[in-house]
Amino acid sequence: MKYSCDLISDLLPLYKDEICSEASRKIVEEHLAECPDCKKILNSLNDVTIDEKIVKEKEEVIGTQAKFFKRKSALAGSIIGLIFSIPILVCLIVNLATGAGLTWFFIVLAGILVAASLIVVPLMLRENRMFITMASFTASVMLLLGIVCIYSRGDWFFVAAASTLFGLTMCFAPFIAYRRPVNAYLKNKKGLAIMTAYTATFVLMMLAIGLHVGMSEFFPLAFAISMPLVGMCWAIFAIVRYLRMNAAVKTGLSITSVGVLSGVLAQLVINAANAGRATGVVVTSAPSLALILSIGGVGLLIAGIGFLVGKNKGGKNNENK
Ligand SMILES: [Zn+2]
Repeated sequence: MKYSCDLISDLLPLYKDEICSEASRKIVEEHLAECPDCKKILNSLNDVTIDEKIVKEKEEVIGTQAKFFKRKSALAGSIIGLIFSIPILVCLIVNLATGAGLTWFFIVLAGILVAASLIVVPLMLRENRMFITMASFTASVMLLLGIVCIYSRGDWFFVAAASTLFGLTMCFAPFIAYRRPVNAYLKNKKGLAIMTAYTATFVLMMLAIGLHVGMSEFFPLAFAISMPLVGMCWAIFAIVRYLRMNAAVKTGLSITSVGVLSGVLAQLVINAANAGRATGVVVTSAPSLALILSIGGVGLLIAGIGFLVGKNKGGKNNENK
């Protein structure tokens, strides 16, 4: 053999990718014809390309790392869980030792469950981490409220629970809607689902408060105040989300709907307050019709300008095409 196997094996990758010179190619082929060892090396090169090799190795490294961190976080979760159980045990013993039976022990237990739901649960989970963490946090807060309510012999549980649920929905709904697994079900109805969740929990809260303080006094005024505001939110949402217009048109129409609905709101509040004078609510004056109309008018003006500008731009773009 004219050339050493070392030299040929250096050339083989270039030969395989057909990027070596004509002279080198000849040398390699002559060598391969009489050297089974180098032929073998060429065959193995053909089996796995270098790119594939790199990708494979990368995936292996990432997989090992992910497994390592998951194992570590599960371990940390277990340890923190154990630490959390210490005060629970101490409280159980002290509570029993004082001879009064299990009283405030349940409050401590529920309080620590709230903390654990935020710290231990996400560490232990492998999938749907955010969704299950938020759900367990909400459930443990409800449990805490319920226990405190029973302990203090209160009758306010549903008011507190519904209000808390509304507040937590305000915070959590967007995160839940945009994350797995919920986002897969909602597809392009995420905004709609969030708005529906807000409205539903809000109405639930109003009902809970109404039932607690007495329906006839609370509802007329409370719904007169809140429903136009809810309607305002829906109007702005619908304009921003579903109207296929430019930002100026949307802004203008939003201003108009806020202006008009504010007028409706003021009138409804006055009516409700007059109907229920016993509640002691006194509303002296509503915004004048002129004010409402001018706010609505300004909004329509902005929307109109936006529409014309958008139309003009669209036309120009079409001409350019
Ligand atoms: Zn050889």
